[in-house]
Amino acid sequence: MQAHRRQYEDLNAAALYCNKCRKSMPVREKLLLVLPQGYLFEYLCVNCGESLGEKTVRLGKEDRMLF
Ligand SMILES: [Zn+2]
Repeated sequence: MQAHRRQYEDLNAAALYCNKCRKSMPVREKLLLVLPQGYLFEYLCVNCGESLGEKTVRLGKEDRMLF
């Protein structure tokens, strides 16, 4: 069977430095909070689950599909 790798592109995950792993690790996004002005996402290390950063996605006129 041939697996499509396409699905991984949807993760849109950047690598961030993880203090626990002591190297740049791929991260996954986790929805942390829903704010009046948008969504607050947390970047978690895929290896140890450490929080490596946050980002806020604003709800604009262009309500983009995030998932
Ligand atoms: Zn880590």
